[in-house]
Amino acid sequence: MIVDFSLLIEKQPAGDCVVLFKGQQSIINNSQSRTLEPDALSFVDSHAHLEMEQFNGDREVVLQRARDAGVESIVAIGSGTGPGSLDCGIQLAEGHEFVYATIGIHPHEAKLATDADFAELEQLAKRPKVIAWGEIGLDYFYDYSPRDVQRQVFTRQMELAREAKLPIVIHCRPSDNSENAWEECLELIRERWAASGLGGVLHCFTGTWGHAKRALDMGFMISFAGNITFPKAQQIRDAATEVPLDRMLIETDSPFLAPVPHRGKRNEPAFVVEAARQLGELRGLSMEEVGRKTANNFYRFFSLHEKLNSI
Ligand SMILES: [Zn+2]
Ligand SMILES: [Zn+2]
Repeated sequence: MIVDFSLLIEKQPAGDCVVLFKGQQSIINNSQSRTLEPDALSFVDSHAHLEMEQFNGDREVVLQRARDAGVESIVAIGSGTGPGSLDCGIQLAEGHEFVYATIGIHPHEAKLATDADFAELEQLAKRPKVIAWGEIGLDYFYDYSPRDVQRQVFTRQMELAREAKLPIVIHCRPSDNSENAWEECLELIRERWAASGLGGVLHCFTGTWGHAKRALDMGFMISFAGNITFPKAQQIRDAATEVPLDRMLIETDSPFLAPVPHRGKRNEPAFVVEAARQLGELRGLSMEEVGRKTANNFYRFFSLHEKLNSI
C-alpha cells in the first residue's frame, strides 16, 4: 500500500511547528521528519464514523477535543449510509492531516449495492488517504440485508480489496446466542482472503478468544472498542487478556458505544482513552502505555512508517 506523505506534509506551512495537542509539539521540516516528546500521549482511534449527523453541529470541536486528549490519528470509516455516500471518509481525511479513510459497503446496506457502486469503490480505493477497505462483513443480528446478499457483497468486496492491495476492516455480528456470523465470516475470510496476505482488522471485537485466534492466524489485528468497559462484556475482556499486545488496536466506533463513564451519551474519538484504560487494567499496563503500543501497532500494520518513526 502506498501512502503519499508528501501530500500530507505539503498542507502544513513549511518549516513550522504544528501543535499536536496541549503541551506537545511536532516539528515538521523540509526533510519530512517529525519528533515527539518521549512521554507524549499517543492514541489512535482506528474506527470512527465522523461523517454522521450526530457530529454536524460541532465536528471540528470534537476533533480538537480528540487532539487535546492525545489522539494522534483517527480512521474515518467510509461506509456512510451506503451508495451515494461512499466517499464520506475520504472527504474528512482530505480535510484533516491526522485523519485516514476507508471505503466500503457495510453489510446493513448490502442489498443496495449495484455494479456502479462497486466501480465507484474501485476508483475511490486509489485515493491517497485510503488505508483499508471496510467496514465489510456479516450482520446477522439486525439482518437489514438478506444473508445471502450480505455474503455476496462481502465476497465481492474482498476481491476488489485484493486488487486494490488494501487490508479489510471486518464487521461481524451474530444473532443473539449464536456464533453463526462468526463461523461464516471467518470461513469466508479463510477461503477468499487469507491467501492474499493483506490481513485486516476485526473491528469492535465481541467474539471469543477462539474467534480472535483464528483471525490472528490469518494476519488480522483485533480492535477493541468502548464496549470492553461494559459490565456484561466479560467475554470481550477474557479475549483481550489473550490477544498478543502487538496485535491489538483500539477504537471508539463513534458515535456509537460510548464507554463507561460516558455510557448513554454520544461517543467521540477523545473517549478512546477509556478502551486503553480498560485494556491496561487487564494487562497490567498504564493507559498511556496501551495507547502508545496500539498506536505503534496501527502505524506498523498500515505501513505508515512516517508516523511510526515518531513514537
Ligand atoms: Zn461495525
Ligand atoms: Zn463502524
